[in-house]
Amino acid sequence: MSSCIFCKIAAGEIPAQVVKKGDGMVAFRDLNPQAPTHVLVIPTTHLGSLNDAKDAAVLGKLMAFARDVALETGVASKGYRVVVNTNPDGGQTVFHLHLHVLGGRAMKWPPG
Ligand code: AMP
Repeated sequence: MSSCIFCKIAAGEIPAQVVKKGDGMVAFRDLNPQAPTHVLVIPTTHLGSLNDAKDAAVLGKLMAFARDVALETGVASKGYRVVVNTNPDGGQTVFHLHLHVLGGRAMKWPPG
């Protein structure tokens, strides 16, 4: 989608700190990190939110990609959190489906 900032990152049209890409996915560092490791994982094809993701195979690939990012950034063994904010009450601000991979510190529960 031409106006979507994450589509532009996926296309390499605007800069991002990419940590992993391939198989229709891109992972890049969040501009405003909420943990020592904070990486966003997106499908390169535009989907507005989790509500628009009808293909379970794409969701499975996204989740596996997020797990691999956690392994490769060194947070997997101590632990990490994967978050999918969805629509306004879920705290979503960028309307291109993305998984947050957060690690490098102990997480609290419940989330805010
Ligand atoms: P959400 O609130 O779940 O929609 O998360 C959107 C995330 O995208 C926020 O954590 C932002 O800090 C992050 N973000 C927005 N623009 C950029 C960008 N150009 N590069 C990296 N992260 C971004």
